[in-house]
Amino acid sequence: MQFVPIGSYDNYIAAHIAMGRLEEDNITGWLKDENTVTIDPILSNAIGGIKLMVPAIQAERAVGILRKLENEHKALHPCPKCGSLNIELVSSPHKTSNWARVIIGLFITSYAMPVEKIMHCFDCGHEFAPDKPVPESPG
Ligand SMILES: [Zn+2]
Repeated sequence: MQFVPIGSYDNYIAAHIAMGRLEEDNITGWLKDENTVTIDPILSNAIGGIKLMVPAIQAERAVGILRKLENEHKALHPCPKCGSLNIELVSSPHKTSNWARVIIGLFITSYAMPVEKIMHCFDCGHEFAPDKPVPESPG
C-alpha cells in the first residue's frame, strides 16, 4: 500500500492526537521519524518534524478530517484581541532569538526548545502564544 504524508508535527503528542482522530474514522496511519524527533527535538526542525503518513487512497479524506479538527480547535481559541478566527500558526523566523535559544538550550539542558511558533491574527495583526494540543475527547 502506498502512503503519503499529510502533515508534520513538532511533538509526538500532537501527532498522536491527530492519528488517533483519524483512527476514529477508520483511517490507519503511522508516524514517520517519530523516534528521531522524540530522542532529539533539535533534529525535529532539521528533518521537518514527525510526519503523519496515511494510505494514499484515504489521504484526501484524512486531510479533510484534520482540517475540521483544526477549525474546531481554532473556534475555541479566537484572537484574544479582536475575536477573529482568521488566525494561523506560523513560525517566527523574524525573531532572531530563535537560534540563540536553541544553542543556549544545548548547553543548559538536554532538552532544547523547538523553533518558536506563534498564532498570527490576519485581521488585527495580533500575535499570541498557541495553546497546548487539543486534549483527546473521552470515549
Ligand atoms: Zn485579532
